[in-house]
Amino acid sequence: MKIPGMVVRAPGAAATLEEVTLDPPGPGEVLVRLLATGVCHSDLHAKLGNFGTEFPYLLGHEATGVVEQVGDGVTRPAVGDTVMLNWRAPCGTCRYCVVGNPVYCLKPESARTRTRTGDGKVLGRILGLSAFCTHTVVAAGQALAVSAELSPAATALIGCGVATGVGAVLNTARVRPGATVAVFGCGAVGVSVIQGARLAHASRIFAVDLVPRKLEWARSFGATDVIDASQSDPAKAIRSATGGGVTHAFEAVGLPQTVAQALASCELGGECVIIGVPNPKAEVTLSLSRLFFSRVTVRSSHYGDCLPARDFPLYTELYRSGALQLDQLVSQRIRLDDLESAFTAMSQGEVLRSVIDFSL
Ligand SMILES: [Zn+2]
Ligand SMILES: [Zn+2]
Repeated sequence: MKIPGMVVRAPGAAATLEEVTLDPPGPGEVLVRLLATGVCHSDLHAKLGNFGTEFPYLLGHEATGVVEQVGDGVTRPAVGDTVMLNWRAPCGTCRYCVVGNPVYCLKPESARTRTRTGDGKVLGRILGLSAFCTHTVVAAGQALAVSAELSPAATALIGCGVATGVGAVLNTARVRPGATVAVFGCGAVGVSVIQGARLAHASRIFAVDLVPRKLEWARSFGATDVIDASQSDPAKAIRSATGGGVTHAFEAVGLPQTVAQALASCELGGECVIIGVPNPKAEVTLSLSRLFFSRVTVRSSHYGDCLPARDFPLYTELYRSGALQLDQLVSQRIRLDDLESAFTAMSQGEVLRSVIDFSL
């Protein structure tokens, strides 16, 4: 079939609307008509060429849609189901899956590449998905059924940003009631960390950013203290306010200096969790002596160590009950061909999430 899609032809080039060819789903795959797609920072990374050279790209990986067709052998989801897409559908056979650690799956399920440009070039995907287009073909395991009554713009965000932030707290760090938390970077992932910390009953949640607007957002999502890092040394302020540092610091930016600040804000024996996707060339220099004597654990959390089939239903129910605020993450709804303006707004820190609403 022929569908409209936003194609990026070269690193740094603008995404432009093109007619794209989409092949039907093969065995184990499903065709999904998209209802809503969030615009994530990882899309911007890929667009700029930081993730590889699979140009031309058809990006987009945080989405909810409706199944329109299923390939041979698919038992679920079914035609007509509303589904949230995900990019970790464990294969079940790699070395990590067989030992019971599917979070580290080496070859998560993914459909074969099914999209081509009008001039016949195979379109690159991001994280095994393409969703800046009206329809997409994914592996059945990448499409998890969700209630059609819930806002697609809200549930789409569970597929990446929310799972990444909330999961870093609940799955990676396993924050306990009464813990103290600091979050560096208050975009969609950072405020999802804040929501996770609130759900985990952290006693104090420090939000750190350079943009006053983001600090206001952080407070509205549950931060108890906000620190403008352009005005003061955030690690010093956090250590002083807590009498020694927080139990958990989350870095949701992906820069060496914020990793250093997050580490320096941990208490003795605390934990620093790196969530922000770094530039491939970024390196961190640490005082080995300080690291040794601080007894801090440093770890990374990729996609919130989530298992979508386990976690997405939980996050959906937390949203339905009002405990997880997702509608408030949607700063603006846009049309598919407004994607480029959403990238600009994201770069300038003006939005938490822009969501493409295919009903507009
Ligand atoms: Zn696997
Ligand atoms: Zn993402």
